[in-house]
Amino acid sequence: MNTKVSEKGSEVCPKCGSSLGEVFETKSGKKLQRCSKGSWNPETHTIDGCIYVKWFEVEPVTLDEKCPKCGAPLLSVVTRFGKKMKKCSTATWDSATKTAGGCDHIEWIKGTTEQLEEDCPKCAAKLVLFTTAAGKKLKKCSTATWDAATKTAGGCDYVEWLRS
Ligand SMILES: [Zn+2]
Ligand SMILES: [Zn+2]
Ligand SMILES: [Zn+2]
Repeated sequence: MNTKVSEKGSEVCPKCGSSLGEVFETKSGKKLQRCSKGSWNPETHTIDGCIYVKWFEVEPVTLDEKCPKCGAPLLSVVTRFGKKMKKCSTATWDSATKTAGGCDHIEWIKGTTEQLEEDCPKCAAKLVLFTTAAGKKLKKCSTATWDAATKTAGGCDYVEWLRS
């Protein structure tokens, strides 16, 4: 890949030729750099101006954990969509043939749930504190259920997002 570089040594936008803005880190730990002519508009949820975004690959972190299948160290990886997973360090991906090689062990890191000593304001059942894989916290009712097959929520729908 050819990356054009401006006179100041900083990269320029391949779409409009302006310099790129500051490197920005998302809440889920992904890094991106926007064109200096583009800015995120939180009201319309669109980018005003130039829409070029450069995503940085997040380096996998080697964990102090062994793969249950083959005993090789596990890696912690963040996907492009901000989901975290552990995968075997011997896993390989051949982008030419689109085939995976090596060990295929993958563990998705899901959120964690903690019991709280607080009652739900809606139904008086206990609340639980849920931490998403991206580190967001919310309190929800312990009677809430999620049916993955039908993608429907059941039980009490009380949810309170916590600001960190
Ligand atoms: Zn641009
Ligand atoms: Zn393995
Ligand atoms: Zn409830």
